[in-house]
Amino acid sequence: MTRPIKRHVEMEQLFGSDFLPVSKKRASSAKASEPSAAAAKAAPEARAAAPKKGPALHPWEQDWSPDFQEFRAEVLDCRRCGLCSTRTQVVFGTGPVKTPLMFVGEAPGQDEDLQGEPFVGRAGQLLTNTLKRLGVERRQVFIGNILKCRPPGNRTPAPDEMAACMPWLQRQIATIQPKLICGLGNIAVQTLLVTKTGITKLRGRVTQAQGVPFFPTFHPAYILRNMNDLPLFEADIKQALEISGLIGK
Ligand code: URA
Repeated sequence: MTRPIKRHVEMEQLFGSDFLPVSKKRASSAKASEPSAAAAKAAPEARAAAPKKGPALHPWEQDWSPDFQEFRAEVLDCRRCGLCSTRTQVVFGTGPVKTPLMFVGEAPGQDEDLQGEPFVGRAGQLLTNTLKRLGVERRQVFIGNILKCRPPGNRTPAPDEMAACMPWLQRQIATIQPKLICGLGNIAVQTLLVTKTGITKLRGRVTQAQGVPFFPTFHPAYILRNMNDLPLFEADIKQALEISGLIGK
């Protein structure tokens, strides 16, 4: 099998029949339909009409206390930084509060901004399917992000946006008190470890962040672009699941 075909087969295995090559024409028309920051500014009444309550809780989120639900409602109304004027909705995070493992990514992308749920796009499917292959369902872990709102065009989060959003994540960590936080990608890992060292050096080893054992690994979006590192990513996720006790060693 040639390398490009092998890659494609690997992608098919990760995404099932949903994963099909997108023609340039389709990709550009999809981009054109993406709401721009300018469009969002031009239609304030549409934003005001956007649901403030967020998606309904999943059945596996029934362990959320009234306090935690009120906390979510507060975050859904957040106006602490400029992203409140370009987002479709706040992406609070999903999963049970009683979980030993919390994943923290960078920020919602377009799919997450539209659905109000973290890691539901292609990178999210890679994470979800990797967990599944290792015997763990997405609903067993809490998944969140450094930023709760999508930066326009998926640009890198700005330092002031991360600083404004960090108290929300800190409150999530304090409530969930996970046995392990798995940081996904450079932005999440460097922000939580307060370091400039790159993920390649940091990944795969337990340190501490926010007073909790912290395990850095690659961002699944990076893996989509660098499939050669998929085995490392899978090994890291397996280790995170073992450390948190979700699977046996
Ligand atoms: N990338 C992230 O960092 N977070 C998401 O929720 C989705 C993609």
